[in-house]
Amino acid sequence: MPLDLKALVRTIPDYPKKGILFRDITTLIEHPEGFKESIERIASQYRGRGVTHVAGIEARGFIFGAGVAIALGVGFIPIRKKGKLPGETIGQNYALEYGVDTIEIHADVLDGNDKVLLVDDLIATGGTAIAAVGLLRRTGASVENAAFVIDLPDLGGADKLKAEGVAVTALIEFEGH
Ligand code: AMP
Repeated sequence: MPLDLKALVRTIPDYPKKGILFRDITTLIEHPEGFKESIERIASQYRGRGVTHVAGIEARGFIFGAGVAIALGVGFIPIRKKGKLPGETIGQNYALEYGVDTIEIHADVLDGNDKVLLVDDLIATGGTAIAAVGLLRRTGASVENAAFVIDLPDLGGADKLKAEGVAVTALIEFEGH
């Protein structure tokens, strides 16, 4: 029987604030087959498709993105919060519920010959992923695919990414928010 990845995600109500159902992937990655299977199921969708790099969004996107990069035999690009990368960077602002955040990549890491797969643990409203796609595309690289472990489809993020020309896959969906 295939492993039930959804059953390995723990849901914690009212974290980080009241009304949020936090989908906690620490229980999935702590499970040896669950972690390996998540990486393999994502990677198997992108083999032989010319992906040159996997980009993962800090911090949980690093866990899955690094594994997928190794499985595909390509390099990994960390998309970091502002001020963490040592070299010359380019950055992208995006709106949070309260305020603005900035993500950055090294300015010289990609060029127009590159084809990037974006990876994160979860897509909700899509704000973070859309900012990441915009940032990666400013280097000239193409970003046609994004892979998530979890999609919350009712929040519309995957649809927004599709409208930006990015095909979205997710291993697990949860209704609601
Ligand atoms: P968004 O920009 O709204 O798509 O939010 C995506 C980011 O916020 C991801 O990096 C997730 O790790 C985190 N996130 C948003 N909602 C949840 C949730 N219900 N459970 C766990 N993480 C979440």
